[in-house]
Amino acid sequence: MRLNIAIDGPAGAGKSTIAKLVAKKFGLMYINTGAMYRAVTLMAMRKNIKASDVKNLCDLMESLSMHFENDKLIVNEEDVSEEILLPKTSQNVSNYASILEVREKLVHLQKEMAGRYDVVMDGRDIGTFVLNNAPFKFYLTATPEERAKRRYNELMEKHVKVCYDDILNDIIKRDHIDSTRKINPLTKAKDAVEIDSSSMGIKEVVDYIVKYIEKSL
Ligand code: C5P
Repeated sequence: MRLNIAIDGPAGAGKSTIAKLVAKKFGLMYINTGAMYRAVTLMAMRKNIKASDVKNLCDLMESLSMHFENDKLIVNEEDVSEEILLPKTSQNVSNYASILEVREKLVHLQKEMAGRYDVVMDGRDIGTFVLNNAPFKFYLTATPEERAKRRYNELMEKHVKVCYDDILNDIIKRDHIDSTRKINPLTKAKDAVEIDSSSMGIKEVVDYIVKYIEKSL
């Protein structure tokens, strides 16, 4: 059986930082599925394709080749890893991620990657759908205010001018769209271990996950 680890949770819960460290610890490939939805959003926005324009969205996706190089996401030979994190993408991504055709295409790619490699995959529907047979599932959460604070600090460190209240509002809005959409909404898998990291540091969360897995191996 593959050693696949699923990490789900709302926006800004620290999933990617933690998933990356857990992957390194066990020598697994890290797959950031949020980055894939962000990349489709970025490419669609560059071409002025709205989320409701499913026909053009499908054509666009056919023209995209996507792969990870370490934790960089390469789309049609371009490293989009930094640009997809900018607020303009964050503010729109949940609308594109609600479209059935977008999800089908990206879930297919995600399952293919997990079929080839042992992975740590983070997202919203990994434990409930994409890797519903994964032996290890975690649901990482924190208060919206704590998550907004972390995102704000992250973007400020990258010299991206942002306002804390805008980030908090975006997080609340995104959580709402992600958890109420019809197709595979954000929800904790029944067999996932829930971790509230509101008052935990990164190392503490990683150590908890690593110990949990090591105990069961
Ligand atoms: O994880 P991140 O915040 O980068 O994800 C960006 C967005 O992509 C989410 O707000 C959600 O709308 C979408 N997403 C999703 N399913 C996933 C991963 C991300 O719908 N598995």
